[in-house]
Amino acid sequence: MNGGEDKIEFKYFDARGGTHKRAHRWEGILPNLERRYRETESQTVRDELAKYLGWRPCISCGGARLNEPARFVFVDNRSLPDAVRMTVLDAYALFQSMHLEGWRAEIATKIVREVGPGADGFEFFDPLRLGMNARL
Ligand SMILES: [Zn+2]
Repeated sequence: MNGGEDKIEFKYFDARGGTHKRAHRWEGILPNLERRYRETESQTVRDELAKYLGWRPCISCGGARLNEPARFVFVDNRSLPDAVRMTVLDAYALFQSMHLEGWRAEIATKIVREVGPGADGFEFFDPLRLGMNARL
């Protein structure tokens, strides 16, 4: 599906019935379709390839885009996938209001430094302008 690094010998047929052999790596079905969709100037080709585009949650993570151990990490009683789905505004509010103590505070030190109270990690964002649909 996603190709490989090994060189494979391919046999090409030309319009006059001739054949040519050329060895190169196989880019894979998905990268091939994506590249052709991106590079084509033909609307017909684009429409044809668009049939294969769609959004469906991944069967292994359910759309969380996090591996299994990460899906079971909790931030202030909220799972990491739930935290990742929050708007910037909500995430900002959550991290600003979080009070961690003991070992929890110790583990979270580096993260709090980036996004917790007094951190400047969120200064890249203007929560009021990004509104409710912006994702962290
Ligand atoms: Zn996945």
